[in-house]
Amino acid sequence: MKRLVLLVLLTTSSIASAQVKNDSTQIRDFYDLALLEGQSYQWLDDLSNDVGPRLSGSKGAENAVNWAKSELEKIGLDKVWLQPVMVPKWERGAAERAYIEGPDGRIEVPVCALGGSVATVQDGLTAEIIEVQGLADLEKLGTDKIKGKIVFYNRPMQANLIQTFSAYGGCVDQRYSGASEAAKYGAAGVIVRSMNLRMDDYPHTGAMSYGDLPNEKRVPAAAISTNGAALLSKMLKQNDKTQFYLKMNCKNYEDVPSFNVIGELTGSERPKDFMVVGGHLDSWDLGDGSHDDGAGVVQSMEVLRLMKAANYTPKHSIRVVLFMNEENGLRGGNEYAAVAKKKGENHVFALESDSGGFTPRGFSFDADPANFAQVESWSSLFKPYLIHYFELGGSGADIGPLKNEAIVLAGLRPDSQRYFDYHHASNDTFDAVNKRELELGAATMTSLMYLFDTYGVIPVNER
Ligand SMILES: [Zn+2]
Repeated sequence: MKRLVLLVLLTTSSIASAQVKNDSTQIRDFYDLALLEGQSYQWLDDLSNDVGPRLSGSKGAENAVNWAKSELEKIGLDKVWLQPVMVPKWERGAAERAYIEGPDGRIEVPVCALGGSVATVQDGLTAEIIEVQGLADLEKLGTDKIKGKIVFYNRPMQANLIQTFSAYGGCVDQRYSGASEAAKYGAAGVIVRSMNLRMDDYPHTGAMSYGDLPNEKRVPAAAISTNGAALLSKMLKQNDKTQFYLKMNCKNYEDVPSFNVIGELTGSERPKDFMVVGGHLDSWDLGDGSHDDGAGVVQSMEVLRLMKAANYTPKHSIRVVLFMNEENGLRGGNEYAAVAKKKGENHVFALESDSGGFTPRGFSFDADPANFAQVESWSSLFKPYLIHYFELGGSGADIGPLKNEAIVLAGLRPDSQRYFDYHHASNDTFDAVNKRELELGAATMTSLMYLFDTYGVIPVNER
């Protein structure tokens, strides 16, 4: 009996070590293929430079849908299809203009409209500025001091936070809710310091909302570059009656039809259990969205292509989902989850790449303790690739709506130190993405997807 137990133990452990060897060989294969014969960088070149900016509802977004569908069809997946979704449409119109009235004349400053903003009046808006450090300052100042002025939100991203996304999260309320809040106190408009850790001349756009504010109460909202913000703040200290001119030509339209683009490798053993990898196909309109989120799109496509190229047959059905309208509505992510629920599709794992195409460090997970422990048991397999960050935390906006008690969600976590130099600005272009860093991200994602496919997600009743 004892010998039998020993034999069983030996056999189990030798199977286990053989599997670890298989895993490390398989993962090595994915990295080799990504770095030696990768497709992601060429795809990013095409998406950034041929398709270009692709804000929801634009011609560019329509071209991106067609491009992605056609490229997915070329890699020999089992299914490729378009999933219809209605999206908001907003256009920037002619370039914005702004200047400060200084003692020695006008000083032009770089601004851009926030996504969803209304335009200024035809001749532009001229008003005094009142600088604040956040939404909470509005109540202290009150209507008396705010009415008729442009509220200038100037709280910077906190530079000593190592996680730059936390620094972003710490001030993005100014951009998102700044206009709706200031309008309640009679502000004529708002300008927001760009969400950027660097001092430069690029204004960074991004989503804002008027909440339930009626149309006639909506005021224009613009971002100003960090250098512009510093200059304006300095001039206000010299003269608090400094006048500011802002002209914006943007416009909101009715919703228009668009699509999520989906490709699938159907599972050989558990075809009805779905694993998703994705990024968002839409981008802001100022740059070509190479980091946000062209990188995530091509890396997600590359996950399925690398599995094919390595002759790996997944057990679960693995889908690449290129979500539409993450930036200004999340309609694609919501629609994908709604359709999955309606069809009763069992989604067990989803991975998103939407943090830039920089050197991958690891992943953050939205998972229960048992599944997270399983992930941690894989960490040594990633060591040769300098992937070490495995933490509980957020995953990705587009896959968020899939959340339920059964699913494990994950987000690729690249080094984020330079991300906000480019995020939502006109310098988010193809040349800002490094080929090797992009490819390493794709191989890292493929490896994680492979491990979840091989070992499965621990079901709720076994946790
Ligand atoms: Zn994004």
